[in-house]
Amino acid sequence: MICNLAVIKGDGIGPEVVTEAMKVLDKVGEKFGHTFNYEQILMGGCSIDATGEPLTDEAVAIAKSKDAVLLGSIGGNTQTSPWYKLPPEKRPEAGLLKIRKELELFANLRPAYLYPELKEACPLKESVAAQGFDMMIMRELTGGLYFGDRYTKEIDGVVTAVDTLTYTEKEIRRIAIKGFDIAMKRRKKVTLVDKANVLDSSRLWRKIVAEVAADYPEVEFETMLVDNAAMQLVKNPSQFDVMLTENMFGDILSDEASMITGSIGMLPSASLNETKFGMYEPSGGSAPDIAGKNIANPIATILSAAMMLRYTFDLDKEADAIETAVKKVLEEGYRTIDIAKPGEAQVKCDEMGSLIADRI
Ligand code: NAD
Repeated sequence: MICNLAVIKGDGIGPEVVTEAMKVLDKVGEKFGHTFNYEQILMGGCSIDATGEPLTDEAVAIAKSKDAVLLGSIGGNTQTSPWYKLPPEKRPEAGLLKIRKELELFANLRPAYLYPELKEACPLKESVAAQGFDMMIMRELTGGLYFGDRYTKEIDGVVTAVDTLTYTEKEIRRIAIKGFDIAMKRRKKVTLVDKANVLDSSRLWRKIVAEVAADYPEVEFETMLVDNAAMQLVKNPSQFDVMLTENMFGDILSDEASMITGSIGMLPSASLNETKFGMYEPSGGSAPDIAGKNIANPIATILSAAMMLRYTFDLDKEADAIETAVKKVLEEGYRTIDIAKPGEAQVKCDEMGSLIADRI
């Protein structure tokens, strides 16, 4: 298969970790007979420096012409970098918002998986961590409270702030279909998280998602109130497979889920649109505190590349090969700085990339 990718290395540790993901992809190509073509585009601080814009229209056009985007991270030190003296629409993060909007990326996928070798980093009770967990938080990314009308004004002499939460049937159905498709590739369970005892929008989610569920008889479907879901994540996370939810609940729960894995440098993510197109990136940021030192953990970006193989290209065997290689290097005891215990030997970013590539 020929896979055409737009690559955004970005700022901070972005170039270091993306280089390692490309190394692993090239090894997958060699072993399984695929070709990965890369075209690099600029986004974030590096684009501001080169063009004055965080993301140019030309860069967007290139991204749109490809099958997928592989992204490192963007942004710098928000206290000291001159990028943050610019007006908000000219700052690095504006590039990220623009590309999400232009590519219509409405479904955000964040897996949370506890590696047995990293159990000690899990902040949960030992008996809970011992059971492990492997879930996919699926968050709606372009609707709901963050995108509704908002204003603050004086009403009857009282200053009043209003935010509106809107969802259409179409917005719910398209992400529900994605959620069930993804559950079919996993353990075949979907938990819809909502606040249907209070919110009209949640009641519409329940109705539409139940309709979609009827088309997937193999998938177990349940609903859960968001307050209960927040508790269950720390009490019994192993019960979840795909957790499907709206924008704000997903924002909060996906951070809670990543926290219980204990290691930000290990967590990939994907943002998908209605086609097979996706943008794949690590969950963490550009880590300016460790940039340029070749010590960042490239695993989150390498696993993001594995998600790309699985969800954009349907190359499940190849995605499995990457995930198995990551498990192997952890079993063999290799650790980057962020996941090493005090006194434990550490490998550099490029060494970790090579160790994983060698095990494909
Ligand atoms: P961060 O995730 O960059 O860093 C938080 C901590 O985690 C730091 O100590 C960092 O060294 C560590 N860390 C993160 N990724 C790591 C990795 N792969 N290996 C080892 N350690 C790692 O968060 P921050 O410091 O709050 O943000 C820094 C910059 O990143 C800001 O400009 C922020 O806006 C930006 N950011 C970008 C994205 C994105 O590109 N999607 C996401 C979040 C933050």
